[in-house]
This record gives sequence, C-alpha cells and structure tokens, in this order.
Amino acid sequence: MAKKQFKTESKRLLELMINSIYTNREIFLRELISNASDALDKRYWLSLTDPDKKVDRSELKIRIERHEDTRQLVIEDTGIGLTADEMEKNLGTIAKSGSDEFKKQLEKAEENIDIIGQFGVGFYSGFMVAKKIEVLSRSAEDGSTHLWTSTGEDGYTIQEAEKDTVGTRITLDLKDDTDEDNYSHFLEEYTVRDLIRRYSDYVRYPIVMDTVKSIPDPTDDAKTIDTVEEETLNSMIPVWKKKKNEIKEEEYNEFYKANFGDWEDPQKVIHYTLEGNVTYTALLFIPSRTPYNFYYQDFEPGLRLYSKGVFIMDKAKDLIPDEFRFVQGLIDSDDLNLNISREILQQDRQVKALARSVEKKIKSSLEDMLKEDREGYEKFFDNFGLNLKYGVYANYGAHKDKVQDLILFKSSKEGKYVTLKEYTDRMKDDQKDIYYACGSAIDEIEKLPALNKVLDKGYEVLYFLDERDEFVAGIMREYAGKTFCSISNAKLDLDSEEEKKEKEEKTEENKGLLEAMKDSLNGEVKEVRISSRLKDDPVCIVADEGVSLEMERYMANDPMNKGNVKAVKILEINPDHPIFTKLQQVYADDPSKLNDYTDILYNAARMIQGLAVEDPAAYARKITELLVG
Ligand code: ADP
Repeated sequence: MAKKQFKTESKRLLELMINSIYTNREIFLRELISNASDALDKRYWLSLTDPDKKVDRSELKIRIERHEDTRQLVIEDTGIGLTADEMEKNLGTIAKSGSDEFKKQLEKAEENIDIIGQFGVGFYSGFMVAKKIEVLSRSAEDGSTHLWTSTGEDGYTIQEAEKDTVGTRITLDLKDDTDEDNYSHFLEEYTVRDLIRRYSDYVRYPIVMDTVKSIPDPTDDAKTIDTVEEETLNSMIPVWKKKKNEIKEEEYNEFYKANFGDWEDPQKVIHYTLEGNVTYTALLFIPSRTPYNFYYQDFEPGLRLYSKGVFIMDKAKDLIPDEFRFVQGLIDSDDLNLNISREILQQDRQVKALARSVEKKIKSSLEDMLKEDREGYEKFFDNFGLNLKYGVYANYGAHKDKVQDLILFKSSKEGKYVTLKEYTDRMKDDQKDIYYACGSAIDEIEKLPALNKVLDKGYEVLYFLDERDEFVAGIMREYAGKTFCSISNAKLDLDSEEEKKEKEEKTEENKGLLEAMKDSLNGEVKEVRISSRLKDDPVCIVADEGVSLEMERYMANDPMNKGNVKAVKILEINPDHPIFTKLQQVYADDPSKLNDYTDILYNAARMIQGLAVEDPAAYARKITELLVG
C-alpha cells in the first residue's frame, strides 16, 4: 500500500510534536475529545435536519479504552465519521499550515515548542504521546469505512476497512517509557479520570470508560469483589449553562483553551444571559494575545452558535461586528431555528437584534475595563487596538462613534497612553486644536523640528506611531468639537497677535530671499516662508491642506501608488537660527550660491520628515563642495 507524505509544513510540525519536550503533553486527550465532541455535534445536527440520518441522542457518546497489555489508549466516538477524502484533507494536512505566516513562524520555531500552542494543532498533538496512531472511521454521510494509519514523520496510509457502527475510533500506541518520560500513566484509570474532569467536564456528551468497582461479596461479608462498570466521567453541563457564581475561573479558562485553539488563558471572560426580544446566553472571551493570523485573510472571525444547547454552526460572523472581530466565544439562544443557514443568518431580524445586543455588551465591557483596569486595557489595546482603529475609519467612519472612545494614543505626556476624552478634557484653555505628530517611533517624533514649540506652549501632542492613525484622525475630523491638526501641517497656528505681526514684517523684509529660494527649488515647494513653529532647528517641511507628509511616506511604500501621491510642501525657515543670517548674506553677496544652500537645507528637512532625498549623489556632492569651501 502506497504511503502518502504529509505536506512539508505539516511534516515539520509533526517533527516538533514527536520530539516535543513540551511538559503539557496531557492536553492531547482534551484535543481528541474536543474533536470527538465536534463530530457528535455534527452528527446530531445531521440527524435533526435529515430524516434519513436519524439517531437517538442516547447513542451519542465518547468512549475511552485503556489497554495496559498492548499499551494502547482508544478514544472512540459515535460522531459523524470521516470519509477517505476527509481523512486525506483533514488528517493529511494541518489546516492552518498553508498560510505564509504559519510558514514563517515555523521556520523560527526550532526547539520552541510554543508553536504547538500558537496554532492549536489539535489532532496532531496525539503524536506527543503516541508512536503510532490509527483512525478507523465509518462516515455517517455515505457509510464508507476507512482506516488511516501513521507513525508520524514517514507519512500515512488510508485503506478500506470494516466497522459496524458509525463514528471514529482512534487508537494511540503509546511511546515507550524512558528514564525521563513516563507515558504509561496515561493508561491508568486515575490519570484519565483526572484529565477528563479537568479538561473536558463540560463536554455535552457522556465520556464513558470501564472502571473497576469493589462491591461487597454476597457470599462472604468480609470480602469484596471487583466488577467492571461503564462509568460516565464528565458532568456534561456546558459551562455557559452553569450559574456564574458556581464557575471557577479555571473552568472558564480550560473551556476556552479546549475550544478556541489558544494555549493561553483568555484575558477577559464575558458571560451573561439576556432575556427580552431575543433571549440568549453568551460566553465570550477576549484572547490575551493576538492570534498569529489575526491580520491576515485566513483568520476567520465569528461566534459559535447554539440553539437550546444544540450546536448549529461555528464561526457565525454575522453575530459579531468587524471592530470586535477578536472576540471568541459562543451564543446559545432558545429563539433560533435549528435549520438556520449562513445565508439566512445574514438577513434574519432576530439574528440582527442579537448581534446588536452582543455588540453593546462587548462595548460596555471594554469601557468598564478601560475605567477599572487601565493596565489590563492597555495590554488589550496593544493586542487589538489596531482593529479598533480600523473600526473607526472603515466604511468611511460609519461606525466611528462606537469605537472612538476605546482607542488610545501615546502622547507627549510621559509617552503614556491617553484617550481622546482624557486629552480634550485636559486641554489648555487657549489651545485651539488637538495636536498630533507622526513618526514610526517615539524618539523619532521627539526629534521633529516642529515639536518643541508646541510643547513649550504647554500643549500636549498625540503621537501617531501607526500609519493608520492619520486615517483615523482624517475620518474623525474632530472630537468634542476640536479639530485634529498635525504639527507638520501648514495651518498650525500657535502665534499670538504680536508674534503674527512680527512674522509678517520679517516676511516682507526678506521677500526677495524667500522668492529666490522658492524659485531655486523648481516647483518642489509651494512656498518658502518664515516659520513660527521652529525653536532650535533651522528648517522644516510642512504640508499644505490635503495629503500629509506621513501619507506621502506611507504611499511611497505602497506598490500600487508608488510616487504618485504627494503632499503639497512648504519649506519653513527659522528666522532666529544663524543659518538665516547666513542665507541673507549669501543672497546679498552672491545669489548664484543660494541654489546649493537651499537645496541642501530642503533635502535635510526632507530627511528629518522621513522622506527620501531626491538625488542623493548630487546632494552629497554639494555638501562636499561646501565643506571644501
Ligand atoms: P481542528 O479540530 O482545529 O479543525 P484537528 O487537527 O484537531 O483540527 O482536526 C482536523 C479535522 O479532522 C477536524 O476539523 C475534523 O474535520 C476532522 N476530525 C478530527 N477528529 C475527528 C473525529 N473524531 N471525527 C470526525 N472528524 C474528525
């Protein structure tokens, strides 16, 4: 029989898994039971929607067998089963392994086994404890039966096989014990019982196992005899159906980790029941880190949907608005039809009402967190803030009101996070606008020539460290009646009447010089003017209305727009800087030299703004000539 090879990435992951030194190997059982439970959900749903596939709920269960003699552990379910195709597709590759991000992470992984957690590899975790895995499965869809076998790295086989009942039987041949590692204990009754109680108690189907019970010997009171009984090991009450005050934090955490492909405890749990137009229970989680593919296409947002405790579908994205797509979890509603499809979901009035209600709840939970747990909120924001910002400017700002109070910016005030409300609340009385400065790092912004003057006035400046921040400000235009203004925008106006007058006079006096400089730049700038925003620096570039310097820089890196989007620039000179006196001299003595001076200053200003020097060779030559004198 021909052996098939795993896809490269899956293979690499398997190697990691097989040689794993991961201390939490025991979670393989949780993963396999979780798969079995999903398969049972699917079979039950099929049974309710297709009369030919009817099955009695009491038949749906998961069975664990321990065979100490052969060192085998068996996990068997009466779920939907797998066809040969499905084995090929679902067990031959690891679903997430196709994405580029996954490949990148995998290359970095080496011995770092955290990769297992990051990608929630499910079925494959079996190879942490088994040297061989067999999956014998009869599909409820077409009744076919197949056996999938693999010893891990060297590929797998699929062949036709026999099995009387629908469902899947997974046999793990445990690895041999070594001095360091004991695999045998997974065969002990106590271990299995303990693991199931810890990790899989809430599973809504019975997890049964033969257990040995001692009962009094009817023939001799002094003795007991051992009998074998099938015992259900889990309580089967879904977490979300339990009373909130009866659930331990650990239970939520285990449930989350078992169901939502994360290795870490969630940062926040939101669990509530709402009665009203639609009655439902929600159990929602905010992950404590960004999923590796969160900002990629293959990330599938959505909540799991149940009706009266019956699983309907996974990843129902209509239940969650885009701005909160990082939320994981489930909704259980008594009012929804079991046959509801993804298409109906989109239009259903009740679903819409439900989604609105969920959205409100998430929003208020985040607001509470912002108020009550600032540190936690900032951590959350570091993980998912980008997505909230996206929520502000997506659809031309249609939903900005929902999220604008949830976003944070770093600011000149100790470089800490601030909300827009906090910023506007503490604005100085004479401050006209909300000031911001763009750059890719705080120390870069702190070097911006225009910053000092604004700070000297006692105004706070928001640091836009993310390329999207300016889109956010652009879409919002204003907050609490104050407009956003970049410190690198031409319209920045910090001057008193007196200062304005002084500037006008200086401009008038130096008209010839400024004009000559502008002409020498051949249309590169709209104007060369006296600056009132500079303190120590000689020059800066500011942008006129429209495209900002940041935007130009951003677009320059975008292959679609390369070089096409440009800010209208104005070159400003600091009249109090010695260079200004020098320029006046040059203009008076030898105007032909003014070109080089202007060009050098202009390019220096470009560099400070993070814009490229247009002709680096010419620029270098001019500087050298100047140095030579
Ligand atoms: P995930 O559960 O995250 O999709 P897994 O690697 O755990 O990833 O499983 C891959 C797929 O294999 C599942 O999505 C499912 O389609 C299939 N599968 C695994 N175990 C079973 C089972 N016991 N019964 C039916 N299908 C299964």
